[in-house]
Amino acid sequence: MQGSSEKEESKRKNIRNARNGMQFRLYLIFLGLVIGIMVVMVIVQIIYTKNQMRENTKYQLQNIARNISATYGTNAYDSSIRATINSNQYVVRTMTEKGDILLDTNKLSLYIHWPDIDISIAEIRQELDHSDGYFYLERVDSEDITWIIYGQVVARWDGTREILLVAQNTLSEVQRMREQIKIMLFVLVIVLALCFFVCWFLSKSYLRPIRRITENARELAAGDYSVHFPKDSYTELNDLSETLDLAVDQFANYEQLRRDMIANLSHDMRTPLTMIKAYAEMIQTISGENPQKRDQHLDVIISQADKLSEFVNASLDLAKLQANAMPLDRTVFTLGRLVKYTMEEMQLLDKTIHVYRTHADENCKVYADVKRIKQMLQNLISNSQKYGGDVIEARVTRSREGIRMEIGDNGEGIPKDKLHDIWTKYYRINPYQEDTASAGVGLSIVKEIAELHQLKYGVESDEGAGVRFWFVFPEYVE
Ligand code: ADP
Repeated sequence: MQGSSEKEESKRKNIRNARNGMQFRLYLIFLGLVIGIMVVMVIVQIIYTKNQMRENTKYQLQNIARNISATYGTNAYDSSIRATINSNQYVVRTMTEKGDILLDTNKLSLYIHWPDIDISIAEIRQELDHSDGYFYLERVDSEDITWIIYGQVVARWDGTREILLVAQNTLSEVQRMREQIKIMLFVLVIVLALCFFVCWFLSKSYLRPIRRITENARELAAGDYSVHFPKDSYTELNDLSETLDLAVDQFANYEQLRRDMIANLSHDMRTPLTMIKAYAEMIQTISGENPQKRDQHLDVIISQADKLSEFVNASLDLAKLQANAMPLDRTVFTLGRLVKYTMEEMQLLDKTIHVYRTHADENCKVYADVKRIKQMLQNLISNSQKYGGDVIEARVTRSREGIRMEIGDNGEGIPKDKLHDIWTKYYRINPYQEDTASAGVGLSIVKEIAELHQLKYGVESDEGAGVRFWFVFPEYVE
């Protein structure tokens, strides 16, 4: 039961997908377009043809009436009417304006009769009085057939006008119109067939590459970063493929980075914990009674606990900054003084020997969160202590862009291809360097703080020639 309902659902999904597919939409658009154009053409044709035919009929009726009236009163009159009605399905009637019928087709032909139409003598007289001696009327007979009637005065006897009426029904018009519609329907069928062919061709040539791209994207989603997107003859699809290829490279990089991070993280947390446990056990079993050894072991425990807590604190700080959970508390302060003070403070805490140089313009004021800028400076100076050479240098200068702050050293520097990665969380150039307390988040915190302050920032480095981190603050002007 369950299986059949799943089948039903997947069938419905397939239908839904097909209905939303480009191919189906393409067919629909073309179909709509063709039908729309044909309908407009049919309407235009009907209106145009109808008017044209009506005008033709009127013109012919007038000509016939003129020919017949030319023989009026002569012996040729009857035969001219007969010839007309037999060949062209016209009906003719001659009558006086008092309503007396003088002659009509009923008297001359067995087949063609004056139609049963409602047209009074008063009406005819009124038409004649308001025209130049001729008129047209349109009437529907008892069988619902439309007739066009032409009337004109042909003679006058004792002041009484004699009128000739010639009429023809519009059945031939309708017939012709039907034929034309038939031709149009035939054209419609051909155009539709053509349209289906064009759709099929277009969808084949457009959709095939799109389907191939989708296929590859599916493989990518399944974690296969070796896929490559096919190139095609369409520029747009080529662009898409190239962009996706770039994305695949990025994904592969991120995946690698993620693996490295997990490896580094587990190493960073596991090593101090293992050491703490091992040394605690050693105190318990071996060195507990020996104060000198016990102190040595306790020192290791304390330094490993420090490492661990530094790692956890830095990670928490970064998480808070990234989650915007540490809103900036901005004040106006002199950046030069803060840099000078932080350099001195870091020098006091420095366990190794470095030369500290500070060139700070102490007149430059900025509007920023002093605590966070200090944290940024501490991270940068601490990095120079760990990875730099023997000189650590800080500068605060006024430049055209604003107030430029630089922290640098004369150490090994950073390879050009790693300059982008160092800002990434948990990234370290030498992840297994044991002698430095390193969590790989120092520069991520620096980056986060710089971006929260909307500072321009960057790093310049040549391998073997030291490194220089720079930041530009807008100057605070009172
Ligand atoms: P860490 O906790 O490892 O110092 P950071 O995010 O502060 O993490 O730095 C990332 C990496 O950038 C460091 O592991 C180091 O390899 C490199 N780095 C940072 N500062 C310097 C520097 N002044 N000189 C050379 N390399 C540096």
